[in-house]
Amino acid sequence: MRSVHDFPGGIHPPDNKAQSLQQPIRAVRLPAYLYVPLHQHIGEPAQTLVSEGERVLKGQKLAEASGQLSVPVHAPTSGTVTAIQSHNVPHPSGLSDWCVRIEPDGADQWCELEGCEDESTLAPAELLRRIREAGIAGMGGAGFPTSIKLQPPEANQVETLILNGAECEPYITADQALMRERAVEVVAGLQIMRRILSPRECLIGIEDNKPDAIAALREALEDSGIELVVVPTKYPSGGEKQLIELLTGQEVPHGGIPADIGVMCQNVGTACAVYRAIRFGEPLISRITTLTGAALTDPGNREVLIGTPISHLLAQAGQQEHRTQRLIMGGPMMGFTLPSKEVPVVKTTNCLIAGTPEEFPPPPPAQPCIRCGMCEQVCPMELLPQQLYWFARSGEHDKAEQFNLFDCIECGACAYVCPSAIPLVQYYQHTKGEIRQKRIEQEKSDRARERFEQRQARIEREKAEKEARRKARKEAATAAPSVPPEQSTEPAPSSSGRDSATTRAEQASSQGAVPVHAATGPDIETLTERRDKARDKVEDFQQRLADARENAPETVAKLERALQKNEQRLEAAEKALADARALESAD
Ligand code: SF4
Ligand code: SF4
Repeated sequence: MRSVHDFPGGIHPPDNKAQSLQQPIRAVRLPAYLYVPLHQHIGEPAQTLVSEGERVLKGQKLAEASGQLSVPVHAPTSGTVTAIQSHNVPHPSGLSDWCVRIEPDGADQWCELEGCEDESTLAPAELLRRIREAGIAGMGGAGFPTSIKLQPPEANQVETLILNGAECEPYITADQALMRERAVEVVAGLQIMRRILSPRECLIGIEDNKPDAIAALREALEDSGIELVVVPTKYPSGGEKQLIELLTGQEVPHGGIPADIGVMCQNVGTACAVYRAIRFGEPLISRITTLTGAALTDPGNREVLIGTPISHLLAQAGQQEHRTQRLIMGGPMMGFTLPSKEVPVVKTTNCLIAGTPEEFPPPPPAQPCIRCGMCEQVCPMELLPQQLYWFARSGEHDKAEQFNLFDCIECGACAYVCPSAIPLVQYYQHTKGEIRQKRIEQEKSDRARERFEQRQARIEREKAEKEARRKARKEAATAAPSVPPEQSTEPAPSSSGRDSATTRAEQASSQGAVPVHAATGPDIETLTERRDKARDKVEDFQQRLADARENAPETVAKLERALQKNEQRLEAAEKALADARALESAD
């Protein structure tokens, strides 16, 4: 029997889980419409494959992964695509992003699926392909594409594969409900991941406050060779680094990732999605979400289609608007207040809390720090929250980084115990955001400088080439034997000063050797200028597009079209110049 280790700090807030565990997982009535975001994962957003007015089937791909770090997005039910538009998505700032709006037809008709009765017949590479095709991204955290996570670098062979069933945050019971009702599927998903990774050991970590889930898992795990490790209830034991320490006694190095010590953690919901993708060919189109909080008359866990509006879910759970003080997505410790109910459920939406004023009273005004050190005692990352707070307040970003601000997992334990009610995590989030923004701006200005330098170098080079050509022409003219015009086989140079190549082109044209437009077109210098202008425009649009992808996604499509047109113009300008040069040298 494995001995359980401990991690530093931690707290024991009331767990408030019972209210959402009274009933089994229930389905949700189809909403009138679904907004399926194209970007629900870490990495590049998916690229749409459908267009407005198109009928789609349940499970059909709506958007394809764009690049390695991306996953496709699928239709959660059959219906009609009524719009592809920017719409509010779950984010503390009320951010909007591209979504496919689907009006369900009620038939819930599946597309053809590629399942497999015996997954042992599939090679690991094929399993990974199917997991990627199913659009699976980590369902317990930030939504990292699962197929990528399951392919660690060769140097980081996974020795220990851990399934994270700790679910330590108060109120949230989505994983617990899943484990107690679908333990067999969870274990089957873990077995598939085990086949892909071939780790030395495979563990499931779960807190001791989930006896029903523990019992179900024990039964499902019989003769599986997978060990169930029950850990004491302490927040945040479900943090990846904390669970690894609890189960293995190993610490993930500062600034490192679990793969650095040969460990990988996966979420129980992800394991279940992997099983369904391989066994039935089902893409990730729904998830279990906890609906809870005292402002709901019918709390519980629901199987929710991705894209379902939060307003629809809350109405089904009997939300009492007048009693709702705060609407939280996620848990009370690490979740965020939703600015609007008109946002859709995404692949990472594990919980929605409609809290009453009694549950979530407005925070008292923050008082000055009394240097009590309580925040330091509870920090599971062994940071110095009080120091970080001072650095954040005074804008000393370098010092905050030196004191490992980016190791902070934003668990909120420090703020929870702070007697001065200082919103510590908000300070850390704000400072991290500022530092990241600075880095982005620095990168942008570095890129702009590089582009400017390259452009200057190109202009200089072309100037030199132009000068060299001019000199060569002059020398050739000087060296040419002086022949009276009437005896010369060459036409006399034009008094209008046009480029000799053009004059020759005209002659060639009159002999039918080249098309008339080439023969009578502009000279090489003009064509070079046109090419340069076209190139500048392309570079300008490339920059504007890069900026828009980060700051104004609604303008991306327009800029992409403009860039494409300008690339075509550049191509034409380059071709015209090349033709003229060829003509000149042929001469
Ligand atoms: S929020 Fe950050 S600083 Fe505060 S306890 Fe958690 S890890 Fe430590
Ligand atoms: S818990 Fe609050 S008051 Fe105490 S040292 Fe930390 S920040 Fe200051």
